[in-house]
Amino acid sequence: MTLPPKLSARDFTRAVAELRSIVGADWVFTEEDDRQAWRDPMFPGDARRVDLSAAVAPATVQEVQAVVKVANRYRLPLWPVSTGKNYAYGGASPALKGTIVLDLKRMNRILEVNEQYGYAIVEPGVTYFDLYRHIKAKGLKLWIDCPSPGWASVLGNAMERGLGNTPYSDHAAQQCGMEVVLPTGDLVRTGMGAIENSPLWGLQKNPFGPTFDGMFMQSNLGIVTKMGIWLMPEPEVFAQCNIRLQREDALGPMIDALRPLRLNGTIQNPASVRSWIGMLLGQATKKEVHDGPGAIPRELVPQILQQRNLSWWSTGFSLYGYEEVVEANLKVVRKALGSVPGAEALSVRKSAGDKVPDSAGTQAGVPSLGAFSTLNWPGGRGSHLDFSPVYEPSGAVAMAEYQFMRELFERHGFDFPATYSITSPRYMACVTPIMFDADNRQQAEAAGRLFLEAHQHLGTKGYGLYRAHVAFMDQVQQAQGFNQHALRRLSERIKDALDPQGILAPGKQGIWPKAMKGGRA
Ligand code: ADP
Repeated sequence: MTLPPKLSARDFTRAVAELRSIVGADWVFTEEDDRQAWRDPMFPGDARRVDLSAAVAPATVQEVQAVVKVANRYRLPLWPVSTGKNYAYGGASPALKGTIVLDLKRMNRILEVNEQYGYAIVEPGVTYFDLYRHIKAKGLKLWIDCPSPGWASVLGNAMERGLGNTPYSDHAAQQCGMEVVLPTGDLVRTGMGAIENSPLWGLQKNPFGPTFDGMFMQSNLGIVTKMGIWLMPEPEVFAQCNIRLQREDALGPMIDALRPLRLNGTIQNPASVRSWIGMLLGQATKKEVHDGPGAIPRELVPQILQQRNLSWWSTGFSLYGYEEVVEANLKVVRKALGSVPGAEALSVRKSAGDKVPDSAGTQAGVPSLGAFSTLNWPGGRGSHLDFSPVYEPSGAVAMAEYQFMRELFERHGFDFPATYSITSPRYMACVTPIMFDADNRQQAEAAGRLFLEAHQHLGTKGYGLYRAHVAFMDQVQQAQGFNQHALRRLSERIKDALDPQGILAPGKQGIWPKAMKGGRA
């Protein structure tokens, strides 16, 4: 039995009985077999280090509030998840052993989809598949923006500032209005939701006064029970572009050629330059390509590229909008990218916005689970730990970081599936999976060591991560050292003010309540 810290088995049993009386006996899970469902199957090391004590699944906002009240009385740490599919960053796993997972996936109503104004209001359990199917079934001319695995929660992904691949890729930026249960059980609505029955909840983010929405993202200050999210109007034309680069050193020139097009809005969605190994992950197992220990030896690369019809890099982005505008932009793009060394001709797949093939994937907001084919790569119980640094969109930086990281990954025995994506016009967020077999303890721990060393390198250059696995949140927070960690000190002052009992997600993002600072790694 795993217990919350400082709680006796007797009090835990009592608390669980109270939780059962709120949500129903079937919706509190304490048995070993049940709890397995919330453990992170991709934990880089021993997942039981942060084992949950129980999971509770309320069905309404009132039940969430009642659970929070019980948690305050017994000092039960609660870890809210929407669908808990945050894999590669911790899944549903808490940061503190003995925490109770507060699973919100039963709250799965799509409360509104507004075609006229382009937004939806959803509960935490609504997945990208749910929202996509709803829109298709109703024939609405709206597109969603989804991350690679479509089973994730629309709300949960925005809470972690997740990224997709249409022009609406920055999910935190598309959020508009929240309903939040505070750590003391009070209920607030942000934005125009602060006015009863406002027709503007999904339209205008700013209330009269300060805004707090960003404070609830990547934090442990509230449980979000409803969220407005903007949806893109279906474009008349969608043109998916790809350009292969036959030279390793073409990465830098391509980033420099793409940057102005992103900055001036010619390319509106993340433009990514993916390495051959990034392309190969979903197509083969490591063993099929090279049956030896460690990373694939460099001297084999030219032969592999030839055999598998791959190029060193593959650049992908799309154009969206009226036919005439897309055609004009295609001309501009061809001219700007054609002179990159080793660049092949631009390949374009054009379709009408309402007839986009499923194969267009996340660039057209089509959710799927296709990304999981990459898990076959390492063999065994294929897993990944994502290392997601943020850089300025500069060719020189991309080349230098590529060379450094490739060497570092290989030294630790891992292939380096690099992708340099100009996610926002002003930065690259480079989600890089460290692929490992979760049943191979040695390999899982090596993945963690690589992550930490790579992260340490970022700090020496003033870079950081946009998101990180729960196992390393303390270290990533620690790297934000300006003025004796003033940002963490601010976060923890707010934490103690809003959550005096320290019940909500202790340790998330490296932010600990006063009484538990000793828990910091
Ligand atoms: P997804 O399944 O969409 O990947 P998760 O449900 O796993 O997302 O959520 C990812 C993380 O975001 C959680 O671990 C939690 O820290 C935070 N989070 C998700 N949903 C909520 C919520 N409704 N309220 C507060 N925090 C949340």
